[in-house]
Amino acid sequence: MGCLLTAAECFRKHIAARPDVTERGQGWWSMRCPTGHHGAPLRFHVGDRVHITYADLGKCPESETYRWLTGQGIPAGCLKRPKDMPGLARPGKVSSEDMALADAILDVAFGDGTTTERLIRCVVLAIDGEIPEGVTIEVLADRLRLKPRIIYQATAEMRRKGRG
Ligand SMILES: [Zn+2]
Ligand SMILES: [Zn+2]
Repeated sequence: MGCLLTAAECFRKHIAARPDVTERGQGWWSMRCPTGHHGAPLRFHVGDRVHITYADLGKCPESETYRWLTGQGIPAGCLKRPKDMPGLARPGKVSSEDMALADAILDVAFGDGTTTERLIRCVVLAIDGEIPEGVTIEVLADRLRLKPRIIYQATAEMRRKGRG
Protein backbone atom coordinates (compact mmCIF):
# COMPACT_ATOMS: atom_id res chain seq x y z
CA MET A 1 0.00 0.00 0.00
CA GLY A 2 1.41 3.35 -1.01
CA CYS A 3 0.93 6.77 0.50
CA LEU A 4 -2.25 8.76 -0.05
CA LEU A 5 -0.78 11.10 -2.63
CA THR A 6 -1.27 10.43 -6.33
CA ALA A 7 1.68 8.77 -8.07
CA ALA A 8 2.64 12.11 -9.65
CA GLU A 9 2.50 13.97 -6.32
CA CYS A 10 4.41 11.23 -4.52
CA PHE A 11 7.06 11.15 -7.26
CA ARG A 12 7.46 14.91 -7.09
CA LYS A 13 7.79 14.89 -3.31
CA HIS A 14 10.22 11.98 -2.96
CA ILE A 15 12.20 11.97 -6.21
CA ALA A 16 11.86 15.07 -8.37
CA ALA A 17 12.36 17.43 -5.41
CA ARG A 18 15.75 15.91 -4.51
CA PRO A 19 18.72 18.15 -5.35
CA ASP A 20 20.73 15.11 -6.54
CA VAL A 21 18.05 14.07 -9.06
CA THR A 22 17.98 15.50 -12.60
CA GLU A 23 15.13 15.49 -15.12
CA ARG A 24 16.06 13.59 -18.29
CA GLY A 25 12.90 14.18 -20.30
CA GLN A 26 10.12 11.85 -21.46
CA GLY A 27 9.12 11.19 -17.88
CA TRP A 28 12.52 9.97 -16.77
CA TRP A 29 14.62 11.33 -13.93
CA SER A 30 18.04 10.15 -12.90
CA MET A 31 20.70 10.35 -10.22
CA ARG A 32 24.16 8.90 -9.63
CA CYS A 33 23.81 5.31 -8.49
CA PRO A 34 23.68 5.54 -4.67
CA THR A 35 24.46 1.86 -4.00
CA GLY A 36 27.13 0.98 -6.60
CA HIS A 37 30.39 2.51 -7.79
CA HIS A 38 29.76 2.41 -11.51
CA GLY A 39 29.20 5.42 -13.73
CA ALA A 40 25.78 4.51 -15.06
CA PRO A 41 22.90 6.29 -13.37
CA LEU A 42 19.87 5.12 -11.49
CA ARG A 43 16.72 6.12 -13.39
CA PHE A 44 13.26 6.86 -11.98
CA HIS A 45 9.83 6.94 -13.52
CA VAL A 46 6.30 7.58 -12.20
CA GLY A 47 4.82 4.09 -11.90
CA ASP A 48 1.49 2.72 -13.12
CA ARG A 49 0.86 0.23 -10.33
CA VAL A 50 3.15 1.79 -7.72
CA HIS A 51 4.07 5.45 -7.28
CA ILE A 52 7.76 5.18 -8.08
CA THR A 53 9.59 2.76 -10.35
CA TYR A 54 13.37 2.66 -10.81
CA ALA A 55 15.94 1.01 -13.03
CA ASP A 56 19.64 0.87 -12.25
CA LEU A 57 21.51 1.10 -15.56
CA GLY A 58 24.59 -0.30 -13.79
CA LYS A 59 22.64 -3.43 -12.83
CA CYS A 60 22.94 -3.17 -9.04
CA PRO A 61 20.51 -5.63 -7.36
CA GLU A 62 17.05 -4.08 -7.11
CA SER A 63 16.85 -5.06 -3.44
CA GLU A 64 19.87 -2.81 -2.70
CA THR A 65 18.33 0.13 -4.51
CA TYR A 66 15.01 -0.53 -2.77
CA ARG A 67 16.66 -0.64 0.67
CA TRP A 68 18.52 2.59 -0.04
CA LEU A 69 15.30 4.33 -1.17
CA THR A 70 13.31 3.20 1.87
CA GLY A 71 16.26 4.37 3.98
CA GLN A 72 15.73 7.82 2.46
CA GLY A 73 12.26 7.86 4.03
CA ILE A 74 10.28 6.84 0.95
CA PRO A 75 7.34 4.63 2.05
CA ALA A 76 8.03 1.03 0.96
CA GLY A 77 4.51 0.74 -0.45
CA CYS A 78 5.21 3.52 -2.94
CA LEU A 79 8.18 1.73 -4.53
CA LYS A 80 8.39 -1.00 -7.12
CA ARG A 81 9.02 -4.30 -5.32
CA PRO A 82 12.49 -5.60 -6.10
CA LYS A 83 12.54 -8.76 -8.23
CA ASP A 84 15.31 -10.26 -6.10
CA MET A 85 13.22 -10.10 -2.90
CA PRO A 86 10.53 -12.70 -3.75
CA GLY A 87 9.26 -12.90 -0.16
CA LEU A 88 8.01 -9.34 -0.42
CA ALA A 89 6.07 -9.85 -3.61
CA ARG A 90 4.06 -12.87 -2.52
CA PRO A 91 0.57 -11.78 -1.54
CA GLY A 92 -1.31 -13.80 1.04
CA LYS A 93 1.78 -14.51 3.09
CA VAL A 94 1.55 -12.48 6.28
CA SER A 95 4.93 -11.08 7.29
CA SER A 96 5.88 -10.26 10.86
CA GLU A 97 5.94 -6.62 9.77
CA ASP A 98 2.30 -6.84 8.68
CA MET A 99 1.41 -8.51 11.99
CA ALA A 100 3.17 -5.75 13.93
CA LEU A 101 1.32 -3.14 11.88
CA ALA A 102 -2.03 -4.85 12.51
CA ASP A 103 -1.29 -4.93 16.25
CA ALA A 104 -0.28 -1.28 16.25
CA ILE A 105 -3.43 -0.31 14.38
CA LEU A 106 -5.63 -2.24 16.80
CA ASP A 107 -3.89 -0.54 19.74
CA VAL A 108 -4.56 2.84 18.24
CA ALA A 109 -8.10 2.02 17.11
CA PHE A 110 -9.15 1.11 20.65
CA GLY A 111 -6.83 3.61 22.38
CA ASP A 112 -7.35 7.09 23.75
CA GLY A 113 -8.82 10.02 21.90
CA THR A 114 -11.89 10.87 19.90
CA THR A 115 -13.02 8.68 17.01
CA THR A 116 -11.57 11.19 14.57
CA GLU A 117 -8.18 11.29 16.29
CA ARG A 118 -7.99 7.50 16.36
CA LEU A 119 -9.03 7.28 12.72
CA ILE A 120 -6.27 9.67 11.71
CA ARG A 121 -3.65 7.77 13.72
CA CYS A 122 -4.73 4.51 12.03
CA VAL A 123 -4.34 6.10 8.62
CA VAL A 124 -0.89 7.43 9.52
CA LEU A 125 0.21 3.97 10.65
CA ALA A 126 -1.12 2.46 7.44
CA ILE A 127 0.93 4.87 5.31
CA ASP A 128 4.11 3.37 6.76
CA GLY A 129 4.11 5.61 9.79
CA GLU A 130 4.98 8.62 7.69
CA ILE A 131 3.73 11.57 9.71
CA PRO A 132 1.79 13.76 7.29
CA GLU A 133 3.23 17.17 6.47
CA GLY A 134 2.38 19.88 3.98
CA VAL A 135 0.62 18.58 0.90
CA THR A 136 -0.03 15.17 2.52
CA ILE A 137 -2.09 16.92 5.21
CA GLU A 138 -4.16 18.65 2.54
CA VAL A 139 -4.74 15.36 0.72
CA LEU A 140 -5.62 13.52 3.94
CA ALA A 141 -7.96 16.30 5.00
CA ASP A 142 -9.69 16.12 1.65
CA ARG A 143 -10.04 12.32 1.63
CA LEU A 144 -11.17 12.16 5.27
CA ARG A 145 -13.43 15.23 4.84
CA LEU A 146 -11.80 16.99 7.76
CA LYS A 147 -10.16 20.34 8.31
CA PRO A 148 -6.33 20.20 7.97
CA ARG A 149 -6.13 21.71 11.48
CA ILE A 150 -7.82 18.59 12.93
CA ILE A 151 -5.17 16.39 11.33
CA TYR A 152 -2.36 18.59 12.62
CA GLN A 153 -3.84 18.32 16.14
CA ALA A 154 -4.40 14.58 15.97
CA THR A 155 -0.84 13.93 14.79
CA ALA A 156 0.83 16.47 17.09
CA GLU A 157 1.80 13.78 19.57
CA MET A 158 3.34 11.61 16.81
CA ARG A 159 5.20 14.64 15.52
CA ARG A 160 6.69 15.24 18.97
CA LYS A 161 7.71 11.58 19.31
CA GLY A 162 9.15 11.64 15.78
CA ARG A 163 11.46 14.48 16.71
CA GLY A 164 12.48 12.44 19.78
ZN1 LIG B 1 3.50 7.35 -2.61
ZN1 LIG C 1 24.02 0.85 -9.39
